[in-house]
Amino acid sequence: RAKEQGKNNYNVFHSGMNMQSYRSFSMQNDLRKAIEREEFELYYQPRVNIETGKVDSAEALLRWNHPSWGIVPPLEFIPLAEETGQIVEIGKWVLKTVCEQIASWKKEGIPPIRVAINCSAQQFLHKNLISKLDQFISQSEVNPTLLEIEITESVLLKNEDMTTKMIHQLKEMGITISIDDFGTGYSSLHYLSKLPINTLKIDKSFTLGIDDKTNQNRSIIMTIISLAKSLNMNVIAEGVETEKQLKFLRTQQCEEVQGFLFSPPIQPDLLQDILLQEDYKIEIFKNNKPAKT
Ligand code: C2E
Ligand code: MG
Ligand code: MG
Ligand code: MG
Repeated sequence: RAKEQGKNNYNVFHSGMNMQSYRSFSMQNDLRKAIEREEFELYYQPRVNIETGKVDSAEALLRWNHPSWGIVPPLEFIPLAEETGQIVEIGKWVLKTVCEQIASWKKEGIPPIRVAINCSAQQFLHKNLISKLDQFISQSEVNPTLLEIEITESVLLKNEDMTTKMIHQLKEMGITISIDDFGTGYSSLHYLSKLPINTLKIDKSFTLGIDDKTNQNRSIIMTIISLAKSLNMNVIAEGVETEKQLKFLRTQQCEEVQGFLFSPPIQPDLLQDILLQEDYKIEIFKNNKPAKT
């Protein structure tokens, strides 16, 4: 069995393996066939404009429908895919699928929204990324300004020259760049200020911590928002679950919010229904007055 797996035969299943490592072992093998077996699916989590209550963009989040394990969350299989390098192939599938989705929404007359795509460091620094993106964009005739790439602070540290070049190239193509999970890594503020980055995404650990008794998380959020504003960047908070968190973010003039309070990640058809309703307003905003006035 190990032999058939060719160069991946370091993955031999040892009899001493426990259930958890058996699960990883089996997943790593199955990941290789997941694309051709069409087991991946993209869900989209709406992001809401805090002033208007309207959905103005969405984040694409990957799900794996494993034939025997059921739905596997990305936090479980993305690290495995990063370990084996399969993340590059998977990432290409994600880019292509998002482009096709945007094109299909356009064909059906759905009002356009920007879609954010998560990009691992390995994929971001891969030599093919730009040419693949170019290819998918021209094949689907998607307006590149509808694409946003989310990278994490770790990418900024990996390979400064390459990263700078990539960010500039994407910017020239019209693609938006955002920094995901901002505040959890180690960004050089100097470096950050030199790059054409559009958006900082406040990590959900800070958002969820708004409700804490100590105001440490609130101070961090205020600092990130003022940093973004002074660098002329947009700011979005992820992981918004309570009205109290929303209220705080609104008083701090955070521009966009994303979280279970509004919607979990949903299948494209469901998002499409939301976008088609002309005066659609996420429920929670109906009873909330805007911050200013
Ligand atoms: P992320 O990019 O920071 O995505 C946000 C995660 O928070 C998502 O988890 C989302 O479902 C979850 N979330 C959204 N709203 C709330 C909320 O109100 N409360 C809480 N507690 N969580 C919320 P998910 O979908 O399990 O994805 C986890 C991570 O996996 C993502 O974190 C991202 O780093 C990675 N990921 C997902 N899809 C892709 C992909 O296509 N490519 C790559 N490279 N990574 C991906
Ligand atoms: Mg993200
Ligand atoms: Mg995040
Ligand atoms: Mg995250």
